[in-house]
Amino acid sequence: MAVIKNIQEKYMREALKQAHKAYLLGEVPIGCVIVHAGKIIGRGYNRRNTDKNTLAHAEITAINKASKKIGDWRLEDCTLYVTLEPCQMCAGAIIQARIPEVVMGCMNPKAGCGGSILNILEMPQFNHQAAVTRGVLEKECSEMLKAFFSELRIRNKAEKEAAKADMPETHSKDPIGDRVENAEINADKMVDKKGK
Ligand SMILES: [Zn+2]
Repeated sequence: MAVIKNIQEKYMREALKQAHKAYLLGEVPIGCVIVHAGKIIGRGYNRRNTDKNTLAHAEITAINKASKKIGDWRLEDCTLYVTLEPCQMCAGAIIQARIPEVVMGCMNPKAGCGGSILNILEMPQFNHQAAVTRGVLEKECSEMLKAFFSELRIRNKAEKEAAKADMPETHSKDPIGDRVENAEINADKMVDKKGK
């Protein structure tokens, strides 16, 4: 078990490196790697705002790259590592790609479909299910998200105040505030169930 845990943590650290790339772009920091025969064959990080693309989630990018590398849409014998519980789109893509094993960092109670809102990864009604491990480097994964959202709130507040000082009559546009609301993830609620 200790060996498996070490391997899982090793690759989750690689997924965290990807998440950090998103962080540096001002994106919600989510990262993913796909491992086949002990080698990373696909990497991805969230670029939704940067690319202005709904599909630019970490997992979708990693799946695309892994499929190119393997030369098949089927990613059998692969393990997908992701820092945050996948959404409905990514969980669906994981099942479509026949990925047999998923390892996740922290859970996403507001949008997750790997056990929180739905459990698309383990539905017996589908012809394929993934074996799921949850909570690998959970603290590191959730702390990166929390840091991101607290910085975003500070920036948001500063920009609001600056806008107020500039145009005391205007209350309309607030793009960063919208982003916080639309981010689908409530960092305060992302603390694991143990209540750490
Ligand atoms: Zn997703």
